[in-house]
Amino acid sequence: MLQAYNQAGEPVILAYLDRSTVETMRTQQSFYCPVCGERVAVKAGRSKIAHFSHKPHSNCSVSKGEGEYHEKGKLQLFEWLVDQGLEANLEKHLPEINRRADILVRIGKKAVALEFQCAALNRKELSERTDDYRKLGIEPLWILGGNRLKRTGAAQIRMTSVDQSFLSCYQENDQPLINFFCPNSRQFCLFRHVQSSGNGRFHGDLHFLSLNKCRILYLFHPSSKQDTASFWYNWLKDKQMFRTKPPPNRQSRQQLSWSKWLYQKKYHQSLLPSLIHLPVTGQYRMKTPPWNWQSRLCLDFLVPLPVQRVVPIKPIYRLLHDVMMPPSDFPLIKCSADPVREYLELLEKLEIISFVNEQEIQKQIPIKFPENVEQALHDDRMIIQFLKLKNNLTSQASTRMIE
Ligand SMILES: [Zn+2]
Repeated sequence: MLQAYNQAGEPVILAYLDRSTVETMRTQQSFYCPVCGERVAVKAGRSKIAHFSHKPHSNCSVSKGEGEYHEKGKLQLFEWLVDQGLEANLEKHLPEINRRADILVRIGKKAVALEFQCAALNRKELSERTDDYRKLGIEPLWILGGNRLKRTGAAQIRMTSVDQSFLSCYQENDQPLINFFCPNSRQFCLFRHVQSSGNGRFHGDLHFLSLNKCRILYLFHPSSKQDTASFWYNWLKDKQMFRTKPPPNRQSRQQLSWSKWLYQKKYHQSLLPSLIHLPVTGQYRMKTPPWNWQSRLCLDFLVPLPVQRVVPIKPIYRLLHDVMMPPSDFPLIKCSADPVREYLELLEKLEIISFVNEQEIQKQIPIKFPENVEQALHDDRMIIQFLKLKNNLTSQASTRMIE
């Protein structure tokens, strides 16, 4: 805890005082927790940020220390907001919901609770905290500790399922984003245009920005235009790797059951049609990787369907019901994407199916399987090239509409 009240009821932040002043205060003054009112002790070790601490076995909701890394980051973020001329409150206690925000900041007319999250927080807790803040008309803004950033490539990170629930989206039709901050390097990492590629891996644009170059509004925005060239390049690489690389010896249970299912259907991973394993924004809502659910949709539903037959899409949702997470699992995403519909729309672009109306589709052509791996790899290149082109055309058209 960085801040407590003295006997006069004034807030004191020890980190701003020199060592001898802190020492004098320790012996001559008493301090009290702003949340529970209990007396708290002054802690000022050699290497640590001076702070307050509850007595052992305290029942106060904020008595559990959050560690040096968290305290350091919280203080830096607080100063960063004050330097931007914003009205910011450190460790603001909100008695109505019995919670304490790391920092409460006012941006124009909006109140924002900034939470610097360095420890794991489960989905349920995240949802509850988010709901509580919104009840008071406060928008939560979560920044994950840089200690949680696991980079696996130039434009790729790995996230635990717990961290994935922090994916945020503040405007309709935007791709999700997520923010990290490291107090040791005093840098933000803004991860934008986030696209799940399954198994906890995420493609996206990584921007590293020093604290003094960043502004609070950047944390809400998708920022620059997406680097689509490297996105499609990486996707194609993944897709081709999936075909040609033999499965690892130790496979997850999910992967094993998929392989078994595929084997029973007498198909082989390397010879699946190229329209399986395509990117959709809503992939973050799927519990299985794209090749898994898309192959079930294609092989169990579309392949047996006669050409020209009109069918409702509802059974597809039933088929994939168990592998889809509800939008409520992502409380920070304002308008949730529908991965199944997105995928069907891609198949419509590829002229495999067409939508007859909102709820029904018609199969247009038979689904072709490649005869050998060379042909499959060629088809992959073609399909990615086609989607990249279509995608660029649509994004140009929508830019024109905005202009
Ligand atoms: Zn307390």
